[in-house]
Amino acid sequence: MTTTTREDCLARDRADPLAPLRDAFDLPEGVIYLDGNSLGARPRAALERAAAVVAREWGQDLIRSWNTAGWFEMPARLGDRLAPLVGARQGEVVVTDTTSLNLFKVLASALAMQERADPQRRVIVTERSNFPTDIYMAEGLAAWLDRGYRLLLVDSPDELPAAIGADCAVLMLTHVNYRTGYQHDMAALTRLAHERGTLAVWDLAHSAGAVPVDLHAANADFAVGCTYKYLNGGPGAPAFAWVPQRHQAAFSHPLSGWWSHASPFAMAPSFAPGQGIRRALCGTQPVVSLALVECGLEIFERTSMEALRAKSLALTDLFIDLVEARCAGHPLELVTPRAHDRRGSQVSFTHPHGYAVMQSLIARGVIGDYREPRIMRFGFTPLYTRFADVWDAVAILKDILDREDYDITAARGAVT
Ligand SMILES: *Cc1c(COP(=O)(O)O)cnc(C)c1O
Repeated sequence: MTTTTREDCLARDRADPLAPLRDAFDLPEGVIYLDGNSLGARPRAALERAAAVVAREWGQDLIRSWNTAGWFEMPARLGDRLAPLVGARQGEVVVTDTTSLNLFKVLASALAMQERADPQRRVIVTERSNFPTDIYMAEGLAAWLDRGYRLLLVDSPDELPAAIGADCAVLMLTHVNYRTGYQHDMAALTRLAHERGTLAVWDLAHSAGAVPVDLHAANADFAVGCTYKYLNGGPGAPAFAWVPQRHQAAFSHPLSGWWSHASPFAMAPSFAPGQGIRRALCGTQPVVSLALVECGLEIFERTSMEALRAKSLALTDLFIDLVEARCAGHPLELVTPRAHDRRGSQVSFTHPHGYAVMQSLIARGVIGDYREPRIMRFGFTPLYTRFADVWDAVAILKDILDREDYDITAARGAVT
């Protein structure tokens, strides 16, 4: 039973060394935003940056901006800025395309590399609870290759060691589960994969900017991730792909567009792959959206993932304690791990009327989201979430549950 009061939460905010970072964001009055895991809040700087790109770079400088404003180099330049957040080195990350497309590229390359090393391997191991697009992209690639590749979906992380057999080509996992917030042990699973001759592909959609990640320490093979979630890049902002230097020469994928060509403006009639991480590119990027990613990354450079992680765990611990103490008696069930090293930066509770309760919360300014089945998801972004926000969110949740102030017949929006 927690004895925390709202005063205690306010005191923690006053003592919080990260508190000033909230000023870097423009959050609407009266909103407690607990959905930065799905769409990060807007950095203040993004408005001015967007205006500069549209009015000056596009409007005035026109096509010259590909050179003068560095548009052409932006995927690699942003990749270098993002790299420290995931334990990548310079020249190993590009910001480009979508997570789905980047996963397709790295998975295609991993399968091709395995095909050359050991053609008997035909299995891609992942989790049934993985984010659906990851499963769909792997299914699509396997079916399209039509060479006997198949997916093996496990139902629990405990089943992974037995699933990674001599027929396994690639272990493809999302580091932090989007629904439950469960965090895998990346280093241990990658080591196991390598012991069994398997390549390890990691999706960092719910990890980059949320939890410390060290791809090199884990010796991972490939990684992809989002910039519009914890990295605050903006709606639909391009994703990222990581190819470590040791795999860059062998890296190849079927989306061999002109941006991955060795010399795009030679306009050669035949494809020749470029050097280094540029190989992970395909075609022309959405420059306005791409430019805004930098505004989010700049904010991370004012702190460290270690400091952010400490606050993230304090926020999620507080939320769990307060919900369990103050909403006791209601049919809420925690599905996020209590163990710190297994937890991402979100907390999920199931409730039989999870969707309706979440709609009530949103109507009262507490914005989280809902995922099937019955899961209410609350993301805690330490850059801008205050301890008092956690207190207030739980107070509103308690009021809604105590008074059964939710409409179980409400129609659902297209996005939940
Ligand atoms: C959010 C998310 C995606 C999103 O993919 P897009 O192609 O950017 O829509 C993919 N994978 C995981 C694990 C995610 O959490």
